[in-house]
Amino acid sequence: MYNRAVLKRKIISTFGKSGLRNSSKRNAVIDAFVSSNTHLNTEELYSIVKSKAGIGLVTVYRTMRLLVQYGFAQEVDFQDGFTRYEINDDLSGQHEHLICIRCGHITEFKDGAIQNIERRARTKTGFSPLHHRLEIFGVCKLCREKEGHEAE
Ligand SMILES: [Zn+2]
Ligand SMILES: [Zn+2]
Repeated sequence: MYNRAVLKRKIISTFGKSGLRNSSKRNAVIDAFVSSNTHLNTEELYSIVKSKAGIGLVTVYRTMRLLVQYGFAQEVDFQDGFTRYEINDDLSGQHEHLICIRCGHITEFKDGAIQNIERRARTKTGFSPLHHRLEIFGVCKLCREKEGHEAE
């Protein structure tokens, strides 16, 4: 796990070392991103920062592109037409996504069995896995309760 304040400082110092000029607008986007627990898309990040003087959608796009390039953020696609972002798994610990097809809610889920599959893949094939992506689609607990468990 990561500490949000530490991560924010690390991102800003990495950008500084690679010659990017410090920008309070960019830092506000970084702040909104690291403070979020969910999988925000660009529009959602924009709606958080737009009240802060003069931060436009373009700044949000550029900042998120930098965060992805530098390995701090990764894009996730839940097939709802939005590109979403979350903190890179190497920093947050790898997790999978359970996606509700009724309400769109995303539950994060960790299970070491998936790491075991990576290990077995390596042993059997000599392939060296770096990361994986697993999205499980279904109906969340709340939606099932609303439907009176009919859908089981
Ligand atoms: Zn649901
Ligand atoms: Zn996630």
